[in-house]
Amino acid sequence: MIILVVNAGSSSLKYQLIDMENEFVIAKGNCDRIGIDGHLSHKTSNGVKVEEDCPFPTHAEAFERLVKALTEDEGAVISSMDEISAVGHRVVHGAEQFTRTMLVTDEIIEKIDELRELAPVHNHGHALALWACRKILPNVPQAVVFDTAFHQTIPQKAYMYGFPYEDYEQYHVRKYGFHGTSHRFVTAKLAEVMGKELKNLKIVSCHLGNGSSITAVQNGKSVDTTMGFTPLDGVLMGTRCGAVDPSAVTYVAGKHGFNVTEMDAYMNKKSGLLGISGKSSDFRDITAASEAGDKHATLAKDMLVYDIKKDIGTYAAVMNGLDAVIFTGGIGENAPNCREEVCTNLEYLGIKLDKAANDFKGELRKISTPDSKVEVWVIPTNEELLIARDTLALISK
Ligand code: ADP
Repeated sequence: MIILVVNAGSSSLKYQLIDMENEFVIAKGNCDRIGIDGHLSHKTSNGVKVEEDCPFPTHAEAFERLVKALTEDEGAVISSMDEISAVGHRVVHGAEQFTRTMLVTDEIIEKIDELRELAPVHNHGHALALWACRKILPNVPQAVVFDTAFHQTIPQKAYMYGFPYEDYEQYHVRKYGFHGTSHRFVTAKLAEVMGKELKNLKIVSCHLGNGSSITAVQNGKSVDTTMGFTPLDGVLMGTRCGAVDPSAVTYVAGKHGFNVTEMDAYMNKKSGLLGISGKSSDFRDITAASEAGDKHATLAKDMLVYDIKKDIGTYAAVMNGLDAVIFTGGIGENAPNCREEVCTNLEYLGIKLDKAANDFKGELRKISTPDSKVEVWVIPTNEELLIARDTLALISK
């Protein structure tokens, strides 16, 4: 059975074609620069690469080109779209309406589009891709998998903000949390490799990439997470400031004379590792600059490490204990220095890092010592695979 996984943004449409017999990626690619000009990158498992500039006025043309790439060009991997059993779509924001993966109806697409107020950059793009896919493949079932859904188990005392209650009721201002698909994938994988049941584990899952979030997972359920109403909250990120005193926001906006949009860009695009280092948002550059003696790069790295360490302690308190810590995402999977610094001086929690075992990148591995009370693991995330598995489970029902 073959499943197409689609991850559409406002101007891009990434895809993977997965054979679910062996969970093998047959082809993947990206239709980029939608609404600007248009570019297709397509790659097959047997090494064929297609790069082409092509006009993508809307997501519909991009989707049509994707179909052609999969079925007709030199990078074709199937003879017709009839070979595809279902399409699984990543959706960033499901708010309080969507708590699990759903099969798509017109009404659901409309609701996803209505939620664009909560995720301006993403949800409208998802809706456009969903309409395009429904038009071009009207008889193929489509599923939607929400980044926020996994966090809908967070208790109200943890997801509320201290604003007047009527603003929660009227404007739905609350913590939603993101990266849910990744946290769900790596925590399930952890239980499998530890040979334990997820329902008996207290886990802190650290997804560290350009955007980062830390989640407390108890009995297989998210009980708290660092991202909030938007993906700006929590730890320091590539270009995002993470958690700050809300009054600092109004103060800085006043000093610079920023309007709301300008302040938003300042916090989302000019802050974080980039803003502190003045050099780069990329953790590789930060590490290299820090090793070369750059004080601001060192400070940026130290701030990120400090935030993560603090959240591990917080969530151990929230769950009344800790069985395992997971590192995932571009930084979590590939930066031994970040993992080592986070795990240093956490012995009181029962965390003992095996420095030699930690010296690697990009694969699944346990990095704590055999006598460490808390197990520490690096688990590469695979959101696309989880979307494909969810989609398969839904259509098999
Ligand atoms: P996104 O959040 O956009 O999905 P990724 O999960 O791909 O991002 O993570 C990107 C981050 O991972 C960047 O900060 C990058 O520097 C970091 N990263 C990727 N490879 C390495 C590496 N080999 N060593 C250190 N950091 C890395």
